[in-house]
Amino acid sequence: MSLVTSTTSELLGQLASRSVSAVEVTQSYLDAIQRRDGQVGALLSVTADSALAQAAEVDRRRAAGEAVGALAGLPIVLKDNICTQGIKTTCASKMLKDFVPPYDAHVATRLKQADAILLGKANLDEFAMGSSSENSALGKTVNPWSFEHAAGGSSGGSAAAVSAGFAPLALGSDTGGSIRQPASFCGVVGLKPTYGRVSRFGLVAYASSLDQIGPFARDVSGAALLLDAISGHDRRDSTSVDAPPTLTAATVEQPLSGLRVGIAREHFVAGLDPEVEAAVRRAVEVYKSLGATIVDISLPHSKYAIAVYYLIACSEASSNLARYDGVHYGHRATEFSNLVEMYKASRSEGFGDEVKRRIMLGAYALSAGYYDAYYLKALKVRRLIRQDFDAAFQNVDVIASPVNPTPAFKLGEMTADPLKMYLADIYTISANLAGLPGISIPAGMSASGLPIGLQLLAAPFEEEKLLRAARMFEREHGPAPMSWKSGV
Ligand code: GLN
Repeated sequence: MSLVTSTTSELLGQLASRSVSAVEVTQSYLDAIQRRDGQVGALLSVTADSALAQAAEVDRRRAAGEAVGALAGLPIVLKDNICTQGIKTTCASKMLKDFVPPYDAHVATRLKQADAILLGKANLDEFAMGSSSENSALGKTVNPWSFEHAAGGSSGGSAAAVSAGFAPLALGSDTGGSIRQPASFCGVVGLKPTYGRVSRFGLVAYASSLDQIGPFARDVSGAALLLDAISGHDRRDSTSVDAPPTLTAATVEQPLSGLRVGIAREHFVAGLDPEVEAAVRRAVEVYKSLGATIVDISLPHSKYAIAVYYLIACSEASSNLARYDGVHYGHRATEFSNLVEMYKASRSEGFGDEVKRRIMLGAYALSAGYYDAYYLKALKVRRLIRQDFDAAFQNVDVIASPVNPTPAFKLGEMTADPLKMYLADIYTISANLAGLPGISIPAGMSASGLPIGLQLLAAPFEEEKLLRAARMFEREHGPAPMSWKSGV
């Protein structure tokens, strides 16, 4: 088996027994990137020299019998809205195209402590706003399974990188589905942890009450290992809960007995692609055959989730993105006659259309006279959505659902109609509104050869249960297939 088709645990085993070196592992992934990323466009930057130097240092320490971290020698790519000291962090925006952070995000520090090898930074929709990675100002990512199809978004580069064998692990951010949806489009595992589980210090903010960083991997145990490495309290993010890092990798192989799987009737309505529905129903049958009880549940307020999400996310974005004025941060126009003109020109040139659309929507929803009718109302409905989940989790351990109404759509198919793109977020955004952990795992392929994901949601801080439940299905279904079976 080639190194780039190996899972995280296979690689760790080979590295620990020193049958392969961290330099060899790193070089294989760099070679795959070199050969294929011209077609896929997953990465915005590749840090080959520092990666090889870091790998050589891990090898030296291992050979000397020194202690190494939990991810020692495993390559990883980070979504390019996660700050990396001395390495460009662009958010796929003209606004930040030359921004080199003077500090590391908390997760980047934790990965260095775990001796993971940073291979580069992955493409995304500008400022993480989108579902296809087509909103990037710096390049296009395509789906490694079919170059005419979207990789999903906004963490499309991270998902495509794992799917294509450019890295065994990646980090993304999920504000309304941006880890789970591209994971399902690209046929890999993607986990959005509970709000507060992972510090966002150094994550460029989109919508702060929703944003969460999380792992991509080829299998559930890889995602568990990466979650354990990045989770835990950090006083620099006031929303980070005061809890120790998770220990999910230790238990992920243990099946759950008496598992109760909830199915929400609101999740199986018009607009759901029959192949996606069939894959989810098949997955439910798998759980049944493993002894799980299937429980019908209702999430009555989920029909408001899209409206609530886009009001809250855009409101928060309009406030967070006010800092990009060409003075504090970001691109500065060269042609202007006074200070206000300079702000206007800098923001007009620096932001793409989707970002501008959301800043305008958010500024409108927050403005005097509309605040109560839109923003405040949205906050109230958000609470009702959370209460639906609280009630459901009295009776079930996990909720199984589609991730996206369809498999990957064609590039360009959705860009002309932003509302259509927003509506496809229906299955993922509620988890962010309610702060729940959610995972997407491969659950089948469409007749046209595109991956289909299964989403599982759990109650807040139940990542351990969520991952064990996901692993139960994965063990039956098999690990995620590689998008390239040979020649990587
Ligand atoms: N598609 C959603 C949006 O455009 C989700 C994005 C995300 O999770 N970052 O807002």
